[in-house]
Amino acid sequence: MQYHLNGFKPGNYQIPDAAREPDTPPPITALPDEVDVLIVGCGPAGLALARQLADFADIKTCIVEQKPGPMLFGQADGISCRTLEIMEAFNSSELLVKECYQLHQNAFWEPDADHPEQIKRTHKVPDARLGLSEFTHSVVNQARLHDILLDGMANSVTHLVPHYSRRLLELDVDQSLTQNLDAHPITATFERNDASESAHVETVKARYVVGCDGARSAVRKSLSIELQGDSANKAWGVMDVLVVTDFPDIRVKSFVQSRDNGAVMIIPREGGYLVRLYVELGLLENNQRASQLNLSADDLIAKAQSIMSPYSLDVKEVAWWSIYEVGQRVAERFTDVPADNPSGLIPRAFVAGDACHTHSPKGGWGLNTSLPDTFNLGWKLAAVLQGRSHPELLMGSKVSEHHL
Ligand SMILES: Cc1cc2nc3c(=O)[nH]c(=O)nc-3n(C[C@H](O)[C@H](O)[C@H](O)COP(=O)(O)OP(=O)(O)OC[C@H]3O[C@@H](n4cnc5c(N)ncnc54)[C@H](O)[C@@H]3O)c2cc1C
Repeated sequence: MQYHLNGFKPGNYQIPDAAREPDTPPPITALPDEVDVLIVGCGPAGLALARQLADFADIKTCIVEQKPGPMLFGQADGISCRTLEIMEAFNSSELLVKECYQLHQNAFWEPDADHPEQIKRTHKVPDARLGLSEFTHSVVNQARLHDILLDGMANSVTHLVPHYSRRLLELDVDQSLTQNLDAHPITATFERNDASESAHVETVKARYVVGCDGARSAVRKSLSIELQGDSANKAWGVMDVLVVTDFPDIRVKSFVQSRDNGAVMIIPREGGYLVRLYVELGLLENNQRASQLNLSADDLIAKAQSIMSPYSLDVKEVAWWSIYEVGQRVAERFTDVPADNPSGLIPRAFVAGDACHTHSPKGGWGLNTSLPDTFNLGWKLAAVLQGRSHPELLMGSKVSEHHL
């Protein structure tokens, strides 16, 4: 099946583009007063947690998102085999496997020793180690992954749906209540940001809160959790394009390093037409944002063309493009309790995904570490809330314990 000739169209690929209904914003309903688990953010981390908790009829979960509705166009579209294994655990891998571009090989291109101003393929390797997984690393639009998680939530026993158009303003953890597991020590204050009720404030009390609210996490800030690591931010350009080219590996995941002009990563897109190009743009000054570089899609195309010389790259259509900055950082702790936790406190507030670690897009680890964070946390929260496990299960605070 080939699809996405003229850009990504949100929704179910099994329904022809022409027959798909336009997306309408979901209706807004009031936030609940009190829940067991409050999730802030509908990225892959938040949705994976909500998808898992939705299957427990006796656990009251609420997921809140500042945007007006589900994601329509993806950004993190590289799906690792581990992520597909998690989708298999949600009984949702088959559709994804059918729709994905499956990655089998990596090609490496470097300056040609005889003509270093040009590039030459040095080698090709299998994409994933033999026997690593029953699945391949794959490519599918992040919006489609979100759709499938949202469908699973809606069709679950709790019919869980996100509350959109609410921005977390403030999060308070009542320290006098945190070690009473029946108490609701978390108070979260949200502000509506849709046109009809803008600035209307609501509060939710929760037994546990999980901040899945991305790299600029308000939950992390309210818990005074510091980020550590690389202080330099690197700018990247990314675009999904329809190209005519004589570059022989355009349908193979390829890393192209030029001598003078930087690097391009090529990822063939699902659907058979589009290809994604990640273009390395260089380091940013302190506090500089990638948007301040004032670059256009044409600048990215010109840069990619210079890197891929002597091959031609004639871009016929730009389906989506963006420029963004990323630093490689990790939080000093992942919960509201001190990192060394000498008193053995049970945590009640967590951060997960980009809220506690950010990565270079080179390895596609952003989504593929965020989603496992909460897949792991989800079953532990459920086991503790249902009284099947001792709450000490929630005390792991190292990244390695946080992940699968
Ligand atoms: C252009 C681009 C390309 C990328 N490509 C890849 C890739 O190929 N592979 C890969 O693995 N990763 C990639 N990444 C990284 C990837 O997008 C992130 O690592 C991943 O989405 C993190 O998931 P998350 O759920 O932790 O956070 P996010 O996806 O950032 O989700 C956080 C959510 O919280 C919401 N939110 C934030 N603040 C509030 C608030 N105060 N109140 C309510 N809601 C709030 C946000 O609106 C957002 O929906 C890419 C990122 C970008 C920008």
